Amino acid sequence: MNERYEIRLRKAEHVFCAGHFITLTDDLCEPVHGHNWMVAVDVAGEPDAHGMVVDFIALRDGVTRIVSALDHRMLLPTCNRLLQVTTAAGPLGGDEVTVRFADRRWVFPAAECVLLPLANTTAEWLARWIGERLLESLNAAGEAARGTIRVAVDECLGQSGVWERPGH
Ligand SMILES: [Zn+2]
Repeated sequence: MNERYEIRLRKAEHVFCAGHFITLTDDLCEPVHGHNWMVAVDVAGEPDAHGMVVDFIALRDGVTRIVSALDHRMLLPTCNRLLQVTTAAGPLGGDEVTVRFADRRWVFPAAECVLLPLANTTAEWLARWIGERLLESLNAAGEAARGTIRVAVDECLGQSGVWERPGH
């Protein structure tokens, strides 16, 4: 038997619009900009007694929840040694996030930011972060994905970062 099964999820609702910038070298940091990020998920594995590798609905809803939390937000990495990210009360009352790189500084309303424990908000590391959240979500839904799971994050048509966790 040399069969292999996989399910693929590519949904219009799994596009999120968010701002970011990344450090390219120790001296170079992109200007702030945004993408319509598109998240695609593949799960490989043995179909269960009902013929399903994983429940599509649980998978779809998990991705939708994760993606919704990122939509219309500024994505900021908290583990970049070149970026200082601090949250503090702003002069107008609301909390603000300040990011510093060399002689540059950006200030955002905290409620419009998502702080991510990443070194950079590249498509590759966003894919890993989304994939790990998705595994937690599937576990919580009683849908342990034992097969290979792959998350691709496309940041502009045809340009993707991919994370994959082999099956076990
Ligand atoms: Zn970008």
